[in-house]
Amino acid sequence: MKKIAVFPGSFDPYTKGHESIVEKALGLFDEIVIGIGDNLTKKYMFDLDTRIKHIQSIYKNEKRVKAFVFQGLTVDFCKEIGAQYMVRGLRDTKDFEYERNIAQMNLMISGIESVFFMTVSEYAAVNSTIVREIHKNGGNIDLFVTNAKNLVK
Ligand code: ADP
Repeated sequence: MKKIAVFPGSFDPYTKGHESIVEKALGLFDEIVIGIGDNLTKKYMFDLDTRIKHIQSIYKNEKRVKAFVFQGLTVDFCKEIGAQYMVRGLRDTKDFEYERNIAQMNLMISGIESVFFMTVSEYAAVNSTIVREIHKNGGNIDLFVTNAKNLVK
């Protein structure tokens, strides 16, 4: 059976930090599905279409990585596409504390196991919020985002 993992997130935008997590996860799983959670109550800087096309441009030569948008519970999306695992990245203890509770509850309601990868030190400080702030103020985000030109309309 193919080992499939979902990497869920807002990816507003998808950064080199996210990329490093997918790279690590590819060593463990046959397929990684990047799931862009569409939360109707959240405001995003980059629209869904832009985010998904940007991610697809990064993986156009990597058949083992796909990207989809989903609504609702992440565990339901995992079941829908036949994923047995969920992947998340950890930068610091704050991430850990937050992720631990979600992972435990997800396991209880669905049996889906979460797998965590530590960030690479080079990108430990990279976070989408700061990248958005730099972009909003006209700064260059190429250092933090691959194919950043695909985010600019
Ligand atoms: P969410 O809104 O679900 O937190 P994000 O797009 O911010 O979505 O992040 C998705 C996942 O990627 C989370 O597990 C987060 O901890 C992880 N992540 C974000 N930035 C980095 C980074 N620089 N290095 C490693 N993991 C990261």
